[in-house]
Amino acid sequence: MAKIQSIRGMNDILPHETPLWQHIEATAAALLTSYGYQEIRFPLVEQTELFRRSIGEVTDIVEKEMYTFEDRNGDSLTLRPEGTASCVRACEQHGLLFNQVQRLWYVGPMFRHERPQKGRQRQFHQIGVETFGMAGPDIDAELILLSARLWRRLGVDQAVTLELNSIGSISARQTYKAALVDYLSVYVDQLDADSQRRLTTNPLRILDSKDPSTQQLLAGAPRLSEYLDDESRAHFAELRERLDAAGLTYRINERLVRGLDYYGKTVFEWTTDRLGAQGTVCAGGRYDGLVEQLGGRPTPAVGFAMGIERLCLLVEACGTRPVSAATAPHVYMVAVGAAAERAAQPLSEQLRDALPALRLLVNCGGGAFKGQFKRADRSGAALALILGADEVAARQVGVKWLRDDSRPQETVEFEQLAAFLGRELALNA
Ligand code: ATP
Ligand code: MG
Repeated sequence: MAKIQSIRGMNDILPHETPLWQHIEATAAALLTSYGYQEIRFPLVEQTELFRRSIGEVTDIVEKEMYTFEDRNGDSLTLRPEGTASCVRACEQHGLLFNQVQRLWYVGPMFRHERPQKGRQRQFHQIGVETFGMAGPDIDAELILLSARLWRRLGVDQAVTLELNSIGSISARQTYKAALVDYLSVYVDQLDADSQRRLTTNPLRILDSKDPSTQQLLAGAPRLSEYLDDESRAHFAELRERLDAAGLTYRINERLVRGLDYYGKTVFEWTTDRLGAQGTVCAGGRYDGLVEQLGGRPTPAVGFAMGIERLCLLVEACGTRPVSAATAPHVYMVAVGAAAERAAQPLSEQLRDALPALRLLVNCGGGAFKGQFKRADRSGAALALILGADEVAARQVGVKWLRDDSRPQETVEFEQLAAFLGRELALNA
């Protein structure tokens, strides 16, 4: 019978890969907590309507990437393609927004039906950060500084660049959109197919186009920065001042946009040239109009999301993956013969009582000394504790150092064992 395989673009994260994931997630969680951000968790599935209304009908996500299905009641549900919509929905539903300030983060899988390739999956994972109730550029700056600190902690700061833009107010963008459409309409034939379509549906997104001929046309197009309203201009200037004062370098990218009306003012991306085409590791922006669009009161909001798969690739590319020694066991307990096997577990439990930080692997499933030592060696443990019938009778264990040939085998009494391990493995500190 044919074996069942995973779904294309939905990957297993295998035991040898999880230490890096845990490292990235733990580093981000600790950093966010230190800045006063709180974790929020929401379901993987929402009403389709939530994403239609928040992400927008004329986006790639809603047009062609959502996993949408009817459940048994006939309701249209969708696997979340991103977290912002659910986060706003949850906050509104539980009254967390009105007259309050929120700094929130979440982590978990997102689902988009895209063409799978390096750095692009159908189930991928994001760490997302959303803030509510703060209208000024101070919080925009905080988010950017926080992300910059995360890159330093992960050792990838030399490999990423901050790209920054302001997309102004809705009305400023309307005026700009009209000017852009006027300009591009003259050259419709030279635009790529997607851009031709967007000329009527979502012209700002044309600025995103990777098509060389479209890009060439855009070089002569009207510039968004010349259309900015005064408030957005001042907001952007102050944001830049704050980043400059912090010594952060960035590149102004006038083509950086979000094609949705509820976005405004700040947009930013962290990009890298180390991952080929999938070079954006983190993307964010201000979305002051979204809460209202979803039925709440007007609430300023700004956030970002980063892709964990791309961060894993980047940490690997930078060679700053931490040694995974932190998950290998300290000790492997070898137990040969019925008496030893019976003694091994209670002894191990006593050691765990005495030394909560001890990572101890007990041989299960029997086997001769030779086979058990092989397993001990493969486990990565620093030392093996050896129990045979003689040891059990004498209430002592043999200690064999697995990574240090110069150290002779020794014998330790059961009663002395916890103290011995605590001292030798520096577990008491
Ligand atoms: P892209 O331009 O790469 O398609 P996007 O604009 O669709 O990205 P966002 O919706 O802003 O991406 O998501 C934020 C981040 O999540 C991206 O910068 C990226 O790191 C990650 N991401 C988005 N889609 C995927 C995917 N299909 N697979 C892996 N990571 C992804
Ligand atoms: Mg995308």
